[in-house]
Amino acid sequence: MAQINFGSIKGLKKNESLAKHTTLGIGGPADWFCEIKTIPQLIKVVKFCRRQNIPLLILGDGSNLLVSDKGIRGMVMKVQSAKRKAQSEKIIAEAGTPLKKLVQLALENSLSGLEFVVGIPGTIGGAVVGNAGTADKWIGDMIEEVEVLDQNGEIKKLSGADCQFGYRGSRFQKTKEIVLRVVLKLKKDSQEKIKQRMAEIIAKRTNQPKEKSAGSIFKNPKEKPAGWLIEKCGLKGKRISDAQISPKHANFIVNLGQANCQDVLKLISLVKGKVKRKFGIILDEEIKIVGEF
Ligand SMILES: Cc1cc2nc3c(=O)[nH]c(=O)nc-3n(C[C@H](O)[C@H](O)[C@H](O)COP(=O)(O)OP(=O)(O)OC[C@H]3O[C@@H](n4cnc5c(N)ncnc54)[C@H](O)[C@@H]3O)c2cc1C
Repeated sequence: MAQINFGSIKGLKKNESLAKHTTLGIGGPADWFCEIKTIPQLIKVVKFCRRQNIPLLILGDGSNLLVSDKGIRGMVMKVQSAKRKAQSEKIIAEAGTPLKKLVQLALENSLSGLEFVVGIPGTIGGAVVGNAGTADKWIGDMIEEVEVLDQNGEIKKLSGADCQFGYRGSRFQKTKEIVLRVVLKLKKDSQEKIKQRMAEIIAKRTNQPKEKSAGSIFKNPKEKPAGWLIEKCGLKGKRISDAQISPKHANFIVNLGQANCQDVLKLISLVKGKVKRKFGIILDEEIKIVGEF
């Protein structure tokens, strides 16, 4: 990779620590790292990496990721293209738009439908890929259209149904298409009612830990919530080095300071083993584990 001329990529960094770019604060270096602010820049980096055969990982806000301690070989591209506008009962937003800004824009325009997103970190691109949401509402239901860059470098428009949204999943996890832009369909409502619903959601979120985390570690199996199963195994508060199963919510692993990826993986393995032995249930990770192992 040393002979490749990266001159055309603005602000390129070498050996960038990914601990700085994940909400867990964990992750070794990316060989190459760039932040893109516009869709043309994004397309340029993707085409460059494909031409040069450089593996590429797309990063939103890193709020659903566990990155290996050895880091990531190839390029990590952080998507920060964030143009957005409200238009009638729709919001059109680029993939790097923070969910927080979207919720704010919806409220300013008296548009309802995104209240459940309050308190979920990350970008709309990451949220679409993982169909982020709560127990009974998810972003996929709000999607009218998603514009993607496909594996052949073509821009395609997909309907909500095309995206194949499921529980914390979408087609994008398989196809590796890159989300560029999203059209959300919302409904007019009074700002008072929207604010009221947002306040209710925020109140429900007070059971989540304040320390660094990547949100829920495991998907909820159909039998019982993962947090309940883990708690019943007596694992709340269990600590390996600085990684801890949150004493507040057992489906969160928090980084108390110096935790690394191996510490978190050991806790994950411990949890899976105990839950399987006690309940016969195999927990499935919700977080994405990436990098070199
Ligand atoms: C405190 C806390 C609370 C949370 N609560 C919730 C919750 O209630 N519900 C919930 O669903 N999640 C929750 N999460 C998890 C997380 O915030 C969401 O999954 C979020 O949608 C991830 O977005 P991101 O931009 O951070 O994606 P990242 O973590 O950066 O990436 C996630 C995946 O999406 C891919 N990706 C990102 N952007 C793109 C793109 N533009 N095109 C293609 N692929 C892309 C990445 O390659 C990666 O595979 C929580 C996390 C934290 C830390």
